[in-house]
Amino acid sequence: MAYSGVSKDLLRGGVNRARILDLLSREPGLDRTTLAVRMALTVAAVSRIVSELIEAGLVVEGAAIAKKGVRGPRRTQLKLNPSGGRLVGISILPFNASVQLSDLCGDEVVRTPLHFSNIADADRVLDECTAAACDLIAEDTSGVPVLGAVVALAGYFDSGGHVMVDAPYLGWSNVDVLAGLTDRLPWPVDVENSSRAIILSEARYGAIAGCQNAFIVRAAQNLGSAVLTGSRILAGHDNTAGQIGHLPAEGGHLPCICGKSGCLNTVASGRSVLRRIGRAHPISTDAITLPQEEANLREALASDRAEITAAISDAGKALGQHLAPLLKFLMPEKLLLTGQLGRDKRYSRALCAELERSASKVEIVIGHDTVHSASAAARLAFQRFVAVPQFDIAALTATKQKRAVR
Ligand SMILES: [Zn+2]
Repeated sequence: MAYSGVSKDLLRGGVNRARILDLLSREPGLDRTTLAVRMALTVAAVSRIVSELIEAGLVVEGAAIAKKGVRGPRRTQLKLNPSGGRLVGISILPFNASVQLSDLCGDEVVRTPLHFSNIADADRVLDECTAAACDLIAEDTSGVPVLGAVVALAGYFDSGGHVMVDAPYLGWSNVDVLAGLTDRLPWPVDVENSSRAIILSEARYGAIAGCQNAFIVRAAQNLGSAVLTGSRILAGHDNTAGQIGHLPAEGGHLPCICGKSGCLNTVASGRSVLRRIGRAHPISTDAITLPQEEANLREALASDRAEITAAISDAGKALGQHLAPLLKFLMPEKLLLTGQLGRDKRYSRALCAELERSASKVEIVIGHDTVHSASAAARLAFQRFVAVPQFDIAALTATKQKRAVR
């Protein structure tokens, strides 16, 4: 993260401000009195912070709250000001990579697809995605400042969260991604694994909002996953925990993209479906094979041919068989199933049937099409750079005042 050297006094003052921003991001419309009750602060203390947030343009007042026969001062709804700042989300995936500009509420302003010339070349990918992000900002004529960026990648970082140590889908290893991005972008920037970015965003704002214990499986060409436990990502000692795609699968013997054989990916993913129907290419991350495989999977999912339906159902069943003991062990409240294969009814039905058979109590939520990792990354930028005690609100207010004078 880019913040350092912030004084303790500034941090103390920022804690309550960060909490108010966080509460308003999840529950737009709260008023000063409700915030004071929630935070165990006086209304005067909350009002002081809210005035500061309004002055900085981060919060705006909405409608007055109607009161029936209740005396007391007028109460006004508060919400984040969409124009209070821009957030940048970038997703670096083998498929559907994109860069998104969001408003302060996390809603999309513009999103543009990224097509990398060679996804296995980390330097070039970082050049291309950061240039695309800077272009988007240059085209944004609003003059609203960028407050932070998060880049979500299909890979795992070291325990320091900077260096990508394991990214079989991208073909990267030991790349200091955070340093590379910090050198290339003029805003505070952080990185996150893409499945983790999505579960963090969905548990805060989306399909599983409010859920503190959840498991996400993104079934596409391969399987991506992450585990949320007590609202925190299950990271393990080396920060690579929560991956199911490379667990040994019963009956698995075929080669996996990670270089081993017999991983769950080889029996429960989109690639395993393509292999069954004779439409898979040899394993590769090159710029020609990847789009072809993606097109083949899309075509297969659109077909109702019996052999394809059987392959998809068997993949869903295989995921269910391997997921069942993990769910019993971790006891998440919800399983969020997403990705182009995860959203296929034949796959999800077979998975559900298998989990039912194992008497799993987990609630299965199917992620809709809008769950996008660039959008999730932009929302994460709000959590990592704006709703934090270190956020330099004085600098933001000064910048906006300078602009207003001009
Ligand atoms: Zn593997």
